[in-house]
Amino acid sequence: MLKGKLSLVTGSFGGIGLQVAKSLASAGSDVVINDLRAESSAEVRTLVNELSNQYKTKIWYEKADLSRKDEIENMFASINSKCGTSLDVLVNNAGIQHVSPVESFPVDKWDAIIRINLTSLFHTTRLAIPFMKRNNWGRIINIASVHGLVASANKSAYVAAKHGVMGFTKAVALENARTGITANCICPGWVLTPLVEKQIEDRSVEWGISIDEARDRLLSEKQPSGKFVTAEQLGQLALFMASDAAAEVRGVAWNMDGGWTAQ
Ligand code: NAD
Repeated sequence: MLKGKLSLVTGSFGGIGLQVAKSLASAGSDVVINDLRAESSAEVRTLVNELSNQYKTKIWYEKADLSRKDEIENMFASINSKCGTSLDVLVNNAGIQHVSPVESFPVDKWDAIIRINLTSLFHTTRLAIPFMKRNNWGRIINIASVHGLVASANKSAYVAAKHGVMGFTKAVALENARTGITANCICPGWVLTPLVEKQIEDRSVEWGISIDEARDRLLSEKQPSGKFVTAEQLGQLALFMASDAAAEVRGVAWNMDGGWTAQ
């Protein structure tokens, strides 16, 4: 389905991004993995080799800190020099979290969350669209969150950034509505990745309860299914959005949240 296409997934060394990268590779796409680790590190080489061997597609790694415009621009220059004309699927996945009431929210954490979770999408999108326009085909898939639709206390920066991602995605979808380029959001509920494991650990310390109890409470507060969404399930949704069947899915926010936002 995606043979001959090139995908870039930001923040894809682990968590949701890695599963999305695997799904795209499983459909035949060449994939650029991006994250913060050094390109030369053994763990990066191991991952790239594993994915190339498993999916028989071209996989390569671009180190770039998505909080920095210059590093994003350098990554695109590098992609351009390696692949020439195409970048077909852009998955904006990299994201961070910080939990604190607004009056004590550290200013540097606010700035970092807005830069990584929102501003980086502006940079990657503005740099990716000219590639996509060459072939009049493109898929921009933004991993937003239920927090792009509803809020939770103590997550003001994350909620503001993810609501911003929703608005940004709709604007990009409309600007390209008469082209073969679509832009959409995926809105996960709780997924058990390092981003959420840290929140579970913090709650277990704060409330003096076990990790298992903290995990159950976290789920039961918001997610009626009582189950985590899996990164693999999200990877399959991203794959659908990248398919030709999704050519007229434009500017949507697609929840996969165990019922969180149905309440
Ligand atoms: P994660 O922490 O497991 O993975 C995030 C990845 O992004 C990491 O590999 C990290 O190194 C990378 N990253 C962080 N800052 C970066 C930067 N400045 N430059 C480049 N890479 C950077 O998190 P995850 O749970 O897989 O989250 C992925 C996305 O899904 C995020 O946008 C997050 O907001 C969103 N999301 C997660 C959940 C959840 O429950 N886990 C729910 C809704 C939305």
